[in-house]
Amino acid sequence: MELLAKLQTQLDDLEARSLIRKRRTVETPCGPRLRVDGRDMLCFSSNDYLSLAGHPRVAEALREGVSLYGAGSGASHLISGHSRAHAELEERLADFVGPYLESPRALYFCTGYMANLGVLNGLAAGDKNTEIFSESLNHASLIDGARLSRTALKVYPHADVAALAVLLADSTATNKIVVTDSVFSMDGDLAPLPELLALCERHGAWLVVDDAHGFGTLGESGRGALEHFDLRSPHLVYMGTLGKAAGVGGAFVAAHKVVIETLIQKSRPYIFTTGAPPALAHALLASVDIIAGDEGRERRAHLQALVGQMERGLQLERWRLLPSRTAIQPVVIGENAETMRAATALYAQGLWVGGIRPPTVPVGTARLRVALAAGHTAAEVGQLIAALNALERTNHES
Ligand SMILES: *Cc1c(COP(=O)(O)O)cnc(C)c1O
Repeated sequence: MELLAKLQTQLDDLEARSLIRKRRTVETPCGPRLRVDGRDMLCFSSNDYLSLAGHPRVAEALREGVSLYGAGSGASHLISGHSRAHAELEERLADFVGPYLESPRALYFCTGYMANLGVLNGLAAGDKNTEIFSESLNHASLIDGARLSRTALKVYPHADVAALAVLLADSTATNKIVVTDSVFSMDGDLAPLPELLALCERHGAWLVVDDAHGFGTLGESGRGALEHFDLRSPHLVYMGTLGKAAGVGGAFVAAHKVVIETLIQKSRPYIFTTGAPPALAHALLASVDIIAGDEGRERRAHLQALVGQMERGLQLERWRLLPSRTAIQPVVIGENAETMRAATALYAQGLWVGGIRPPTVPVGTARLRVALAAGHTAAEVGQLIAALNALERTNHES
């Protein structure tokens, strides 16, 4: 068939340019130590930063959720799919990040991807004269959310508050939405949120913060980027994902109750989808308890110690560890081929680290994206450091 032949040609082309991506099959619970395609591996490529995905208490809560609520929700939230577990989780999350918002309320989404589509779609729906201002390194879901909203989109350079100020001053839109990741997923650095918020307040703009990599890991009690910077404002619309540090799945938006009611009424990615299984929400209650409690605090402290260990231990000459204080510790190598050789060599030693190439990162900045987790031991991180130090020396000409 001609249609299939056309697709096959495109796939062959990707293969020829070494851009075909392959999935590996994990046979054990998510955690620092995995069995992958029959091999024991140390995993440095997951976003399960607090190692809660395989936590016995969270798994037990999921089982309990199944016995309380069964498997599925059966319908969208506005029809009959909104369960007590969803309602309890939303209240818990609104309480948790509420100190940083005004009249807070939270809304649970099936995924972070959908939450980002949903928040932009919902906020833009209120006003045809909307303009979205998006940071250049934002996650793909925010770009797609702007597209779904069919509004004007301006992109400002990474962390460039002055450039954003010019764009906002030039805008005649009556509904301005600034949107940024809090922790950049391929660099591990933080957005200048205090400066961005001050600017948004001055221009009457919303500040949508995607805290996918901050929720659970940043802040004294794991409340995320808003706690880290101690920000509070009615202009803030907060998005946290629950499949990364929280270890389960889904996401939430927290904001002023009028914003949340608007999303419930108008956000298409919220309205036109079946509610996530209630058992997930029930499991997330356990996971938020862990994040907020002593165990969460200890896990964050251990994670910070591992971050310091990377910084002290890596002795690189040509490669470069980016100055990140978060669990995302990228080692920039530069060339695609050398990066992939390094990732393959690490894998052969039982160390699973993601190699990231353009277009995910700018040309010439291909990197190993090391993701640390609270479940890693200092000895395991030491093993990775030794492997990276040795590899930089031998990988050059091979
Ligand atoms: C992972 C991620 C998302 C999407 O969240 P999912 O729950 O995985 O769909 C959104 N934004 C950022 C910055 C992310 O890293």
